[in-house]
Amino acid sequence: MRVRRLLLPAFIAGAAGALLLALSVDLRWLEELNTYGNFDVENTRGFITRLLPGTPDSAVLREYRFDHGVHATPLIALGVVFVLFLVLRAVGDLDVKLGIRRWLTAWAAFVVARFGLLRVSGIAPVRRCTYGTFPFLNCQACEMASGGCPIGNLQAALMQFRFPLLPLVVLVITGLALGRWICGWLCPFGLVADMFDRISLHRWKPAHAWRAMKFVVLGLVIVVPLGLGAFGGTVWLPFCSTLCASGKIYGLLPFYATTGARDFGAAFAGGHAGELAAILWHSAVFLGFIWLGVMISGRLFCRYLCPLGAFLGLFHRISLVRVEHVSEDCNHCGKCVRHCPMGIDLGEKDFLTQSECVRCGRCVALCPSGGRRWSYGIGVPVPGKETVLVPDPVRLVPPDTPG
Ligand code: SF4
Ligand code: SF4
Ligand code: SF4
Repeated sequence: MRVRRLLLPAFIAGAAGALLLALSVDLRWLEELNTYGNFDVENTRGFITRLLPGTPDSAVLREYRFDHGVHATPLIALGVVFVLFLVLRAVGDLDVKLGIRRWLTAWAAFVVARFGLLRVSGIAPVRRCTYGTFPFLNCQACEMASGGCPIGNLQAALMQFRFPLLPLVVLVITGLALGRWICGWLCPFGLVADMFDRISLHRWKPAHAWRAMKFVVLGLVIVVPLGLGAFGGTVWLPFCSTLCASGKIYGLLPFYATTGARDFGAAFAGGHAGELAAILWHSAVFLGFIWLGVMISGRLFCRYLCPLGAFLGLFHRISLVRVEHVSEDCNHCGKCVRHCPMGIDLGEKDFLTQSECVRCGRCVALCPSGGRRWSYGIGVPVPGKETVLVPDPVRLVPPDTPG
């Protein structure tokens, strides 16, 4: 019993130690890596700006001045987006309270990840992308990014044949602690995906097995950079430059709408062929995502393609925060399955289904009979006996509930 009690403090102490070690080893590297339009650091490599080899990095021409007062536009723009999202989040939502709680949590994560807003609005010379690595997709292409993306950092490290210590430590710690709760409550792309899901027609239902595709993508995110590195590649991050839907929304879209607007126009007016090809490619992928999102699900990318979702899903049995299906209490109304943003039935015990749950808690809020519950604690749910957690979990269940 005493050993059990020590598990959580030991985990916290170990996690803090590992994180400090990883930061002390990798933070300098992260500063050197500092990606996409390195406005602050001269002569560093712009990994994503050069979307294709040879594409000019015109963003580095931009200078920020802090002696001309505050630029209000970015602050106003973000404020408008905040209110708009909040309204969209609340209108017609089945679980308004939970939805808004999740929305506020994801928004807080988004603001921390976009601390560079202080720089672009001329308030403080906060450096970009240099304060660590976040446990969610966080496009380093954004001028306001304050830290790195774990998948971006992972690829960059592997391409340089460097051990990806910081991204791995961050992902393993958060995977063990929270698992895909990060997808349901923290990831800014998940926030947009959930809202987009409200206008999805859900007309097509790809076979369940297609969800395994994201594990293939996870494998490619490891293998392809190693291969590219072996052939001397250093400036092209394969996943970021091709499939990443989060990067399109949080990186490229704001970039081409602001700093890169000049490049966008110039590329179409007969500028650099590589840049034009990159813009057309990204636009086509973006439109493809929207079309498939309307036909399948707003969470399309999370279900089928996100390598980070795949990685975090590996921890679904052991993460400290879980949502459990309690079959004894289920009256089979089907509400949880109908309204699950990931389109799963948590009653199914296969790995692919269980690893898909983003712990959003919507089914818990909607279930009329207590068939879905939050559970917290160190332990592995036993398949088929989903209410039994070992060892000694702290569970939010009524005291008279069986199991
Ligand atoms: S699956 Fe990927 S994109 Fe979706 S919420 Fe999770 S980390 Fe974000
Ligand atoms: S909503 Fe609750 S009662 Fe209805 S099927 Fe889901 S777990 Fe069972
Ligand atoms: S099973 Fe429940 S908690 Fe998990 S993703 Fe679906 S609705 Fe959210």
